[in-house]
Formats: sequence, C-alpha cells, structure tokens
Amino acid sequence: MSLARTVLLRASRSTWLADQFRRRSFARRAIKRFMPGEDVGSALDAAASFSSAGLGSVVTALGERVNTREEAERVRAHYMEVLNAIRARGLPTHVSVKLTHLGLDVDRQLCTQSVLALAAHAAATGTMLWIDIEESHYVDATLEVYAKARAAQPRVGVCLQAYLRRTPADLERVLGLGGSVRLVKGAYREPPEVAFPKKSETDAAYFALAQRMLDAAAPERSQVFGTHDLALVERVKAYASSKRVPNSAWEVHMLYGIRAAEQRALAANGVGVRVLISYGTHWFPWYVRRLAERPANVWFVVRSLVS
Ligand SMILES: Cc1cc2nc3c(=O)[nH]c(=O)nc-3n(C[C@H](O)[C@H](O)[C@H](O)COP(=O)(O)OP(=O)(O)OC[C@H]3O[C@@H](n4cnc5c(N)ncnc54)[C@H](O)[C@@H]3O)c2cc1C
Repeated sequence: MSLARTVLLRASRSTWLADQFRRRSFARRAIKRFMPGEDVGSALDAAASFSSAGLGSVVTALGERVNTREEAERVRAHYMEVLNAIRARGLPTHVSVKLTHLGLDVDRQLCTQSVLALAAHAAATGTMLWIDIEESHYVDATLEVYAKARAAQPRVGVCLQAYLRRTPADLERVLGLGGSVRLVKGAYREPPEVAFPKKSETDAAYFALAQRMLDAAAPERSQVFGTHDLALVERVKAYASSKRVPNSAWEVHMLYGIRAAEQRALAANGVGVRVLISYGTHWFPWYVRRLAERPANVWFVVRSLVS
C-alpha cells in the first residue's frame, strides 16, 4: 500500500480532522465532486436525471459506527422514508446501507431487525437493498446478518472485497445462499495477513472472483461489479460474452462523480450501469477514503482551497 494511501486512510479515522474539515467552506466545495448535496432530495433528483439518461442508481446515507440505539433507530426510520420516496417518485433506485450505521456495534439484534425490516420494505416497494462491507473485523457479523436477510427476502445483496484473502470462501457461502454480490476491490486499511498489500494481487483476485460470479449467474440473482477500472470491466464483459451470460444477468456500479462519461458510454453499449449516490453530513471518513483511492485527488482539494 502506498504511503499516501496509508496516511490518508489513517486520517479518515481522525475525529479531530473531521471536525476541522467539516467547518471549512473549501471542503464543502471539494466534496461537491463526489456528491450532489447533503440532503436526500438532492440524491433523488440526481437519481431522476440518471434515470432519464438510461442509468440506474443506488442511494446511501453517509454515516458509520453509530454508538447509541437512538441514532441507529433514526437511521432505520430515515431509510424507511427513503424507500417510500423512491416508490413515490417511481425511480429505478436501490438503497445501500452500512451495518455499523444501523447499530452493529451497539446491539447486533437491533441491527439485524433493522436490516430485515428494510429488506422487506425494499421488496414491498419494488426495489433492492444492498449491504456495504466495512473493515475486515466486521465481515463475519455482516455475513451472518446477510444470511438472515437473504433467508427472508430474495432482493437483498451484499458487498464483498477482492483484497481480502478470505473472500473466495465468503463468495462460495453467499452463492450457496442464492445471494447477490457486489464485488469491489476494498477501501480500508488492512494488515497484509488479512488483505493483499499489492494492487496487482487485488486486481488478479478481483477477476478470478468475477469469473466465479459469472459462472454462477442466474436470472434471480444480481451480479454486480463495483469498480471504475475500465480494463477490468472490459475483461468481465469479454468473459461474460464467452460464457454466453446475458447482459441482464450482471451490472456495473460506479460512484457518483467518478468516470461519469464512461458510465454513460457503457450504458449506451448495453451494459447495465448504476451510479451509487451518497448524501448526508457525515462525509469526512468516506470522502478521505475516496482521496486515498486516488491520492492525485488531493490536488483537487488544494485547487478548491486556492480558487
Ligand atoms: C458501487 C461501489 C460500491 C462500493 N462499496 C464499497 C464497500 O461496501 N466497501 C468497500 O470497502 N469499498 C467499497 N467501494 C470502494 C472500492 O472498494 C474501491 O476502493 C474503489 O472502487 C476504487 O477501486 P476501483 O475498483 O475503482 O479500482 P482502482 O484500480 O482503484 O481505480 C481504477 C481507476 O478508476 C479511477 N478512480 C478510482 N477511484 C477513484 C477516485 N476515488 N477518484 C477518482 N478516480 C478514481 C482512477 O482513474 C483509477 O485509475 C465501492 C465502490 C463502488 C464503485
């Protein structure tokens, strides 16, 4: 892992820095690159305009590691309202949640109940619930909660990280549940015994996992490749076509503001594309993870500081 990435991922966990950063107007300007606004209305307006351009979307409220029941319950209530709004506006929009935002660290039972309730409401509103994956010490708990949700609802999927050495086994478990997977490379700081330290190893693992997902493609499960790595997307596309997996059996998901032109080009070429749109005021750790993915992004921050 590069030094810049290590430093940025360490910084993403600093509450002092988060507090300093959030108060600065330059930070608000810089963040606009990665999110349309702090309120859910801006996210849904963006989802509507993606929809007119033939792209689907996924919305997520920023926040993680809440430490009270009240906060976790507020987050669940908020997502219930978001699902109602998606239905009311007729948007082709999924919802993605982080389990520590729904109180995983506070009360696992409460978190599980919230996921079950949200998955049921997502199904009732004709959409789909995704579960993000966080640091490696949350993976066991996340997959246990996922297994319960999947047993109750088909329209629920979970994210898996290619950089984790354990992921091939986790993928088999999720496929065995008939589950849907969103495969990503992985965004956190992890020790080398847990995650591949070299990007080339993660990239190779990603493609091997992607092949396994496409081999297991079935009409009732969504196989999602969450990446902006266009060379990798091309390899996935070629493999799918060599195995005669129809385009309807898999999708590419990318983040709002990253490779926007390529998102549209892929969609125009018949690949299902969804844009993950984040919103909310707790954006610091998430934003610094985006900087860490491409340390050159720090120059955008410096530029907005001086413009
Ligand atoms: C839909 C979606 C959901 C995700 N959910 C999770 C999750 O639940 N858990 C988790 O750990 N991680 C998640 N991630 C983040 C993921 O793990 C990676 O950190 C991130 O996607 C960068 O890796 P990459 O696959 O785009 O490939 P990379 O090889 O890192 O990037 C490929 C190219 O894309 C461009 N690019 C990538 N990132 C950026 C950026 N931040 N700014 C500007 N350009 C960029 C660059 O041109 C880069 O060369 C998610 C990512 C996506 C797209």
